Amino acid sequence: MLFYSTKTQSIKASLEEAVFRSLPPDNGLYMPESIPTISREFLNTIENRTFNEIAVEVGHTLLSDDLSHSDMETIVENSFSFEAPVVEITPDNYVLELFHGPSMAFKDFGARFMASLMSYFLAKTQKEIKILVATSGDTGGAVAQGFYKVPGISVTILYPSGKVSEIQEKQLTTLGHNITALEVDGTFDDCQRLVKEAFLDQELTAKYNLASANSINISRLIPQSFYYFSAYAQTKHLGKPLVFSVPSGNFGNLSAGVLAYRMGLPVQHFVAATNRNNVVPRYLESKAYEPLPSIETISNAMDVGSPSNFVRLTRFFEDDWQSVRDLVSGYYFDDEATKASMRKVFEQTDYVMCPHTAVAYEGLQKYRQESGEDFTGIFLATAHPAKFLDLVERTLDSSVHIPERLKNLLSLEKNAIPLKRRFQDFKAYLLG
Ligand SMILES: *Cc1c(COP(=O)(O)O)cnc(C)c1O
Repeated sequence: MLFYSTKTQSIKASLEEAVFRSLPPDNGLYMPESIPTISREFLNTIENRTFNEIAVEVGHTLLSDDLSHSDMETIVENSFSFEAPVVEITPDNYVLELFHGPSMAFKDFGARFMASLMSYFLAKTQKEIKILVATSGDTGGAVAQGFYKVPGISVTILYPSGKVSEIQEKQLTTLGHNITALEVDGTFDDCQRLVKEAFLDQELTAKYNLASANSINISRLIPQSFYYFSAYAQTKHLGKPLVFSVPSGNFGNLSAGVLAYRMGLPVQHFVAATNRNNVVPRYLESKAYEPLPSIETISNAMDVGSPSNFVRLTRFFEDDWQSVRDLVSGYYFDDEATKASMRKVFEQTDYVMCPHTAVAYEGLQKYRQESGEDFTGIFLATAHPAKFLDLVERTLDSSVHIPERLKNLLSLEKNAIPLKRRFQDFKAYLLG
């Protein structure tokens, strides 16, 4: 499989190049040149497969030119030792729980797969790699866990000071070894800009093998398609069309869902659910795409004013607005609506949602009302509620069960390097 740049169709890269470069030289995004279809027989028996069997089949269908079946099996085995269960909340409303990995957010799927893939390639070439990653909360923790102690790779994480939860911050700043956290005096967009500038800086790229672990990296996107297939496998017996509601920020998760759809997964519709950072719902409404500075909300991992995967999302539809709208509806919710949703679902069903998950739940309900259709709705739970402990407990007026893994984290000491949002400072730090 070759990957082309969204800006220049003739710029192509192999999987290995796309994974290590992250961005094409023209600053576009890598996209699969063609999208192979999953086999009919496989879909017919998918309900009998484990998550990892599904991952191997989907991964191999996409990347059979690049990796043998047995290499794909090894990479999948190294990546996923956790499940993605679908849980019934109320009739027709199901939640796909993506928070059972090491950092307890869905980004574990992408980060673990990316780390396994990179170490597979590195074992062949002996390159030293410096990974730069900007995080608005959960990416950093997943990447830190995914790459922790992976030989030949060091990771530098940039996060906006004071804008991530205590647990998120601890996940970024307590591992040590090959993981360093930079606490940036700015927003997530500032962090993302610093990383992007570093990739374009000739002095830095001459000195280091820089790679990104943000959701712009194609190797993060591919594994996120696996759990859409798994969710289908788990709900197929219900015999109704499927609608997925995806809580979105940079739109990697939704793009991966659309990739699964393009591969032949039977999905009737997607909901792009956001907080007040609503550029995509507004694009779906008016066709105008107007990135804005990000606004702080309680679903902070979705506080993105200029979603980096927007170009990919629309490219899956040949950039045709009407085709995007036919498959994707957008809704957005403010913090009050998000909290009201968390309370309502907890009171009615005892189910505890993180604020991101609540945004997806509300998006699904709104689509159900507007469409008037009968379907199995699956909303994606992107983080464990205990990752946002204070907020969730205050909102629900109830204590939340904290998994052991998170409890241990809280007692560890934070270790981060403060950084101004100026590129010169970041560059000086990297040049050390
Ligand atoms: C990153 C994140 C999102 C947004 O995912 P995108 O792929 O950037 O759209 C949603 N919820 C949580 C908990 C996240 O960490």
